[in-house]
Amino acid sequence: MEIVRVQRTQARPTDTPQNFGGTVTMQRFRQAKNPAMADMVAVFFEAGARTRPHIHASDQILYVVEGHGIVATEAERRLIRAGDIVVIPAGEWHWHGATATSAMCHLSVRPAGPTEWNAPLRDWSTYMEGAR
Ligand code: MN
Repeated sequence: MEIVRVQRTQARPTDTPQNFGGTVTMQRFRQAKNPAMADMVAVFFEAGARTRPHIHASDQILYVVEGHGIVATEAERRLIRAGDIVVIPAGEWHWHGATATSAMCHLSVRPAGPTEWNAPLRDWSTYMEGAR
């Protein structure tokens, strides 16, 4: 068993800044080494920071720890806040991050599997437009 805490002071700059817009740091708890394991990482997005659009090969669970954020799929853009839990099904185009004016931290839990980071940008540049 392992018990951990989300702590901003333990976060480090992401080693894949090309996958994000804005400033993002990460506190990595677990890196899946085989199909029986899940990845677990806390991601700290500064205001205006978010992922580029991407597609995971496995389900992704996002638990919002603090702040206000946004999660988008091809179909909708939703505002999220501390306490919300988001399920992104495997294979779904999406992006997630802070709002333009608030920082946000979420925990990401995801079974082992690759992520496609060269997904189409679509209307990613319009950011908060139409979010509800
Ligand atoms: Mn994702």
